[in-house]
Amino acid sequence: MSFDTERLVGLDKKFLWHPFTPMAQWTDPSHEPLVLVSGRGVWLTDSRGRSYIDGNSSIWTNIHGHGHPRIVQAIQEQAARVAHTSFLGFSNPPAALLAERLIRLCEGSDLQRVFFSDNGSTAIEVAMKMAVQYWQQNGQPERNKFVAFDQAYHGDTFGAASLGGVGRFFDRFKTFSLPTLHAGSMEDLEAFSDTDATGLAAVAIEPVVQGVAGMRPWPPGLLKRLRSWCDRHGVFLIADEIMTGFGRTGTMFACQQEEVWPDFLCLAKGMTGGTVPLAATMVPERIYEGFLNQPGEDRTFYYGHSYTANQVGCAAALASLDVFEEESVLEKLPAKVECLARELARLSDASPYILETRQKGLIAGIELCRNRETGQAFPPSHAMGAQVCLAARNHQLLTRPIGDVVVFMPPLCISEEEIRRSIEALEKGIRQKAESP
Ligand SMILES: *Cc1c(COP(=O)(O)O)cnc(C)c1O
Repeated sequence: MSFDTERLVGLDKKFLWHPFTPMAQWTDPSHEPLVLVSGRGVWLTDSRGRSYIDGNSSIWTNIHGHGHPRIVQAIQEQAARVAHTSFLGFSNPPAALLAERLIRLCEGSDLQRVFFSDNGSTAIEVAMKMAVQYWQQNGQPERNKFVAFDQAYHGDTFGAASLGGVGRFFDRFKTFSLPTLHAGSMEDLEAFSDTDATGLAAVAIEPVVQGVAGMRPWPPGLLKRLRSWCDRHGVFLIADEIMTGFGRTGTMFACQQEEVWPDFLCLAKGMTGGTVPLAATMVPERIYEGFLNQPGEDRTFYYGHSYTANQVGCAAALASLDVFEEESVLEKLPAKVECLARELARLSDASPYILETRQKGLIAGIELCRNRETGQAFPPSHAMGAQVCLAARNHQLLTRPIGDVVVFMPPLCISEEEIRRSIEALEKGIRQKAESP
């Protein structure tokens, strides 16, 4: 199939508005957007026939590569049978089967109920509303505040954004926020008085590694400490595994690395293998029971979206979980994770423009700097992270920075050879741009 790139780019620049994008820069005649038209495995192809490694898993969503035949077939068959039916008042086969599978993945936890929605932000909204309503109707209505961590990212809708700790994105909406306290560390939280804690509905965390903060791993043991703090104070724990879920950190869920289970487990991005949107909020039976009607009482959770438990999405998610089993995806990860660690160490040794590299599983952040000895950063006006990613594109790697942190988070199906190629592309990009900024 051939594409008229000029025309497509013209239409895009004339009619579209992109997320997280300074549009004056995007529409500038000097900017040539890539139009991505197809994908196979970790490779994406643009409208001019050039191919690239998908180095950020299409914004952290893709797990088994593009066009995985197992998932494609499941989507095709489900779409042909029926694509969507309402979940208000009806059930459907893939939703019921997927709920069972998700609960089985959380064996050893008390997570027993699955509430579906559409994306990461809605999975968080669901957890927040459930937490507040639970306390309202179960004798502790004063528990109406949330705690989140500095630099946290939990989504862009107003509720989820209230938890956000990235000033650049969220400060302007602060006055519209739900009551939320921000903690810089576990010590901050432990300094809360007992009376403060009785006003808390829930604490939200991106377990094991914060994403938008720049791929920042938490100190080992922090999640366990947070779990016991929540238990001590009767506060719910919301684990936002929207980025970390489905193998990204080396285990199916990041929480498993500290043998911790939350009261609300929020899943989205990788749940369908990165093919179609779908999200889930999982809770224990005791939370669900807090919504069961007493005679004469209305305790219903009045929340839902038109596409809740979309049949194609649930079928894709089931197929993605099949791929995990059939291809022993988790079992193959340690060798890849080690390969990435070696490559990052080599890159760091080879370049004076890297302040540090951070890694958790197949998630990596490469922080650029002008001078490693002094820790001096590049001036923000250089947009060095973005420049390096643009340069890496010429070496067949697509990714996107967070400020001057270059993200590398490939689909789990990437080969060691492709990991080496990707890091080489970044090395060349860094050399080209950082040496003559
Ligand atoms: C992406 C992300 C979200 C938001 O998910 P959307 O599907 O983009 O709404 C929330 N939390 C984390 C940790 C994320 O990475």
